[in-house]
Amino acid sequence: MSEKTVAAISTPSGEGGIGVIRISGKEAIKIADTVFKAANGISLCAMPGYSAAFGYVYDKEEQIDEAVATVFLEPKSYTGENVCEISCHGGQYVTSAVLRAVLAAGAQMAAPGEFTKRAFLNGKLDLIKAESVMGLISAKSREELRVQLAAKRGKTSEEIEKIEAALLELSADFAAYSDYPDEDLPELSADNFFRLINFAEAELGSLLTSFDSGKILREGVAAAIVGKPNVGKSTLMNMLSREKRSIVTDIAGTTRDVIENSVSFAGLNLILADTAGIRQTKDAVEEVGVELAKERISSAQLILAVFDSSDELDSNDKEILSLLSPDNTIIVLNKTDKQPKIDKAVFGGFKTVLISAKNGEGEKELENAVREITAADKINPAAALLLSERQRDLVQEAHSAVTEAKNMLKSGFTIDAVEVCVEEALSTLYTLSGKRVTNEVADEVFRRFCVGK
Ligand code: GDP
Repeated sequence: MSEKTVAAISTPSGEGGIGVIRISGKEAIKIADTVFKAANGISLCAMPGYSAAFGYVYDKEEQIDEAVATVFLEPKSYTGENVCEISCHGGQYVTSAVLRAVLAAGAQMAAPGEFTKRAFLNGKLDLIKAESVMGLISAKSREELRVQLAAKRGKTSEEIEKIEAALLELSADFAAYSDYPDEDLPELSADNFFRLINFAEAELGSLLTSFDSGKILREGVAAAIVGKPNVGKSTLMNMLSREKRSIVTDIAGTTRDVIENSVSFAGLNLILADTAGIRQTKDAVEEVGVELAKERISSAQLILAVFDSSDELDSNDKEILSLLSPDNTIIVLNKTDKQPKIDKAVFGGFKTVLISAKNGEGEKELENAVREITAADKINPAAALLLSERQRDLVQEAHSAVTEAKNMLKSGFTIDAVEVCVEEALSTLYTLSGKRVTNEVADEVFRRFCVGK
């Protein structure tokens, strides 16, 4: 356990109802007690764990805010150490003032991710769970939140432990077998070796697949709404980003210089490229609109192609249609509140959804179609998933070592040689979970955290 007591503001900077200053370490309660005076006169040091008190925060003699202090005693806290959280008013100045008082009372400034790192070092969570803490914070859709929470609760760690157990059993069998080096591999042992190694190989393989299928949860779905002017693209965009269930943020495009909107829809994070360009060029729509549509179509994973169902298809519609593929396109037939003039059948093999964007009708059907075409329903949010590149790379390494061990076994190598590969796979998995990890690896994981977490 670290000797240093550290503190940081754990809530985002800005104005909010509450701001939390977290203090963790041996002296946490004592330090909090010097800046916080409970209204009932009881010292924080006399309070049991999991208790809270209302009171006042002082900077020396001067009262700087009213606050609630919550006391957690080691080991029953997030970090496993003594922790005091001071919940004061959520203003930038006030939270900084409280933090300054806490630092002046003897705490040191916490590094990014230091609270979670301490939780890891104190055995509260492994490295996979620690990474999912970060994932939970940055989750942008219901499904991502679900998988990150499952990982935080140990789903992936349990899976890794099962594989480790199989490899350990294999190692133990090898050790027993090595006691009789002159004898041939008895059939029974060989069966068991292959059973264990096949199990490890298959489980690692399916974890690797989970990384690919989980990509749309981690990175969102690059989506585009295309269609000629006036078919209802903007109205559909408004329907998708309805305030009650979406987070709409402007994020600068990472690969292209465009503004993108991130919209939570159908449990997924849809990253929609801004369609402002199409609207600005209303006089030359036919050409520019189609050009822009082409660009979007070639780069998007999901295309919502909007057509006005109350109007016959014209040459623009037909040109757009000719650019689309049923693999990643949903035909959205809008304005179903009006007399229909298009027969759904013209869209042949495409998944087609009827909506009235204006009235918000057909939303559920559109959600289902989006989940189907992105294969979101095939991802089991309760299953073990690899959620970071670090996890993927290490599982890949362990998988290769296990495959090599299996091939060696098949080709009759000595048990010692096979054992080296199995040990390598085990040691890689220990790095993954953090059971055996260097400071550099741990630092690399926690470096990405924000201060206060
Ligand atoms: P965009 O140019 O494709 O972005 O189209 P807009 O979203 O600006 O819509 C063009 C016009 O169609 C507007 O007057 C909308 O109010 C109207 N509109 C959009 N969706 C519907 C719908 O579902 N039903 C009806 N009746 N009108 C709609």
